[in-house]
Amino acid sequence: MSYPPPIVPPPPTPPEKSAACNCAHCRSRHLMGPVVLIALGVLLALQTVWHRWRFEHTWPVLLIVIGLVKLIQHLTPADPLRHR
Ligand SMILES: [Zn+2]
Repeated sequence: MSYPPPIVPPPPTPPEKSAACNCAHCRSRHLMGPVVLIALGVLLALQTVWHRWRFEHTWPVLLIVIGLVKLIQHLTPADPLRHR
């Protein structure tokens, strides 16, 4: 009894370097601007609504937000085919 030849999938082809990378690591790099702007807007809105939350006291939250985004960037895996 003969078996059919095994089906071997073709090797993965590396993506073109010129195309924009869409791996999790590259996508996380685009988070910084929008997230910092949102945090800044929230802090300024808090100051407007509740005068106790003055920006001169809450601005360190921006440093925490920036640190969290950098942490996310560090923890998201990069596509090994594009980032060698
Ligand atoms: Zn990438």
